[in-house]
Amino acid sequence: MSSPSGTTSPSGEGGPSGEARGGRRRQASVPDLVASARAGEPRAVARLVSLVEDESPLLREVGAALAPYTGRARVIGLTGAPGVGKSTSTSALVRAFRDAGRRVGVLAVDPSSPFSGGALLGDRVRMSDHAADPGVFIRSMAARGHLGGLAWSTPQAIRVLDAAGYDVVLVETVGVGQSEVDIAAQADSTVVLLAPGMGDGIQAAKAGILEIGDVYVVNKADRDGAEQVRRDLRSMLALAEREPDAWRAPVLATSARSGAGVVEVVEALEEHHAWLQDTGELARRRERRARAEIEAIALTAMRTAWGGLGGRVELDALAARVAAGECDPYAAADELLAARPGAG
Ligand code: GDP
Repeated sequence: MSSPSGTTSPSGEGGPSGEARGGRRRQASVPDLVASARAGEPRAVARLVSLVEDESPLLREVGAALAPYTGRARVIGLTGAPGVGKSTSTSALVRAFRDAGRRVGVLAVDPSSPFSGGALLGDRVRMSDHAADPGVFIRSMAARGHLGGLAWSTPQAIRVLDAAGYDVVLVETVGVGQSEVDIAAQADSTVVLLAPGMGDGIQAAKAGILEIGDVYVVNKADRDGAEQVRRDLRSMLALAEREPDAWRAPVLATSARSGAGVVEVVEALEEHHAWLQDTGELARRRERRARAEIEAIALTAMRTAWGGLGGRVELDALAARVAAGECDPYAAADELLAARPGAG
């Protein structure tokens, strides 16, 4: 019916996606940027996310400046196959959280695209819905980086939004391959979205999404077949049941376009959050997330040092020796580690 393709300017948020294009930028000190971001200045938030996307050398300083202000936001992942209604649902969830008085940051992460800048994942629709609301920040991120990709950059961007005082950070990602598992690892709560008419039952089992959802939502409940998807999913989840005191993921139904059922999703997320807190699982998940982050940063530093442009040549030399049979790969790895990459 209505098409969002009429507009061409991704200007909804004062041009954060334009800033993401790199190029010239007015120099602002990191402490100034962080202070502005914390004061609710969306351009500063956008700039900081751009620094993450660009893998800026300033990130070390940014990370240090943000750290004292992080740990407050609730991170909610939302994933599902293309077309199930992620953008529409994100927008509806944002509205519901706003109605509850929360500030909301959205990161729309597309693991399949090396491009960023506004047009991804229904960005324009979402932006136009919330453009005038200073309590909402929306940003697309793409696997543009050369180093650790989105597994590396998404947690850093989450930190930016967390420190900037967004109560809820929604991370929306296309469910393809590994990405939904990655997103589940980065979120406190993961919403898995399905819809009728997409062969979801089989897809669900295949993609392993039965493992990752804390809340399942069958969207497009206004369409035929939604109730069937719900039943199928429920019976599959019942088969996969875990320990008695484990969280039992509800299977809800929404019609994101009209907003029907969205409040129930928010309520289920509140319940899940309370469960996370009561059981200590929240701290465990966040520590797991921090561990993955540290590893990603350390591995990125190692890769840069070993194979980086104009960097050290140990890896090339070792590779030649291993390929020639002069050295075994274990011994080569030992040598590489002994070279203490990144030590200066
Ligand atoms: P995404 O690719 O997962 O982000 O999906 P979108 O949010 O872009 O939605 C894909 C299509 O489904 C769009 O045409 C939406 O208008 C439509 N859609 C989203 N939610 C609903 C819904 O609740 N009911 C119906 N009938 N269509 C919906």
